[in-house]
Amino acid sequence: MSHNGFTVEHRYLELPDSFYTRVQPTPLKDARMVCFNHALASEMGFHSEKPEEWTGVGAGTELLEGMDPLAMKYTGHQFGMYNPDLGDGRGLLLWETVGPDGRRWDWHLKGAGTTPYSRFGDGRAVLRSTIREYLCSEAMAGLGIPSTRALFMVSARDPVRRESIETAAALVRVAESHIRFGHFEFAAHHEGEAALRTLTEHVIALHFPHLIELPQQERYARWFEEVVERTARLIADWQAVGFCHGVMNSDNMSIIGDTFDYGPYAFLDDFDAGYICNHTDQGGRYAYNRQPNVGFVNCQYLANALLPIMNEDDVRRGMRRYETAYNGRFLQNMRDKLGLVQEDESDLSLIMDTFSMLHEHHVDYTRFFRGLSNLHSHGTAPIRDLFVDRSVADQWLERYQQRLQTETRAHDEREFTMRKVNPKYILRNYLAQRVFQDAQNGDYEPLKELLTVLQKPFDEQPEFEGYAALPPDWGKHLSISCSS
Ligand code: AMP
Ligand code: MG
Repeated sequence: MSHNGFTVEHRYLELPDSFYTRVQPTPLKDARMVCFNHALASEMGFHSEKPEEWTGVGAGTELLEGMDPLAMKYTGHQFGMYNPDLGDGRGLLLWETVGPDGRRWDWHLKGAGTTPYSRFGDGRAVLRSTIREYLCSEAMAGLGIPSTRALFMVSARDPVRRESIETAAALVRVAESHIRFGHFEFAAHHEGEAALRTLTEHVIALHFPHLIELPQQERYARWFEEVVERTARLIADWQAVGFCHGVMNSDNMSIIGDTFDYGPYAFLDDFDAGYICNHTDQGGRYAYNRQPNVGFVNCQYLANALLPIMNEDDVRRGMRRYETAYNGRFLQNMRDKLGLVQEDESDLSLIMDTFSMLHEHHVDYTRFFRGLSNLHSHGTAPIRDLFVDRSVADQWLERYQQRLQTETRAHDEREFTMRKVNPKYILRNYLAQRVFQDAQNGDYEPLKELLTVLQKPFDEQPEFEGYAALPPDWGKHLSISCSS
């Protein structure tokens, strides 16, 4: 096993003791390697010809020299209620590595057994949820949306009780940081100003190094603005691809703006603005169309936590960045999706009317925009076929064609660019469900094939055309529970 392409660090251990507890993984039985992300490993500065060599690390039976596992302590707001008892309840930070390009990576073993923060949980992750997380992290990366990543996963034989008995698995999730908004809430509400300051400086030093030289007040102000902006832009990117996170609690918000914590997430099939992908979210707090606002509320929780060390005006100014950053990014995303380069005052109303139409007529979101990206090469049929009432499509298409007349790019040039932002392949829930069923029967090949497809969601990939199909009836509106 060669991993000398990176250096090992433990910078998290520089934080005060209250931010973590050292915990050894609880071994899993008869683990086997399911999937190893060679491309990611090489980005991180190592390669493995025999991924099975990593099985023991995934199973918690083996630690490499230099690994010093710990559970992070954080708190956070869950569904609007503050919970002081959170922390890594089933995941351990094994070590941090720095690759040849200087990028840092936290290695987090998810499903490693109980920790002091497990509360009533068993510390495990099941195969179903681990596959879902693996798939979606890599799908997001393929789409170019910031996300935690999946390095490898193992499955095991240990039974795990959820709604039914399932089998255990574990994922080595990597990210440049596993620090959440909830870390700051913990520091502010339980540890006091010095700890909060230490945490803030730690995050700036590791992840916002361009701010280090600024005088303190400005450093914090600029940093907070950046966190707010990254969060806003991330959510604008989610909206543009129809991604629903499902559990946008403040402990699931990454301080560096990654998509973090894949539980009951979903990509929209037919467009439904109020879609709720988490079946325990009965009030729809985290419905698709509420995500932009929830992102703002989460930034407010962070803002509150920062008040002891920041000037109130700076906090307020930082918060104002949210709307500007969100609106700017969202408008840009939608203009890109529609292939509009020229500025036209009526574009926002075109965009909003398009969403209303997609919603009212239950049009498949991904196929619609992909169809638009091939309008002049493939004609209007792929779009019209998405509508029960074709006249609605015709009217909209006429308006769109008219708008295109103010554009100056050639059709094929525009459509080429549109196909770089309107994916052909997305991780529809039914696709994830199908590979999970095969995996449960011991066949992991479909999982690997789906991962291959999702790595290049914007390419045609004619051999994988089937993955771009509309969901079968059984696969629509699958309801995913939080229990993972
Ligand atoms: P989540 O809903 O995945 O964001 O998790 C919320 C909190 O519950 C975190 O502190 C997790 O570590 C903890 N947690 C979730 N599932 C388990 C489990 N099976 N065992 C122990 N802790 C868990
Ligand atoms: Mg979580």
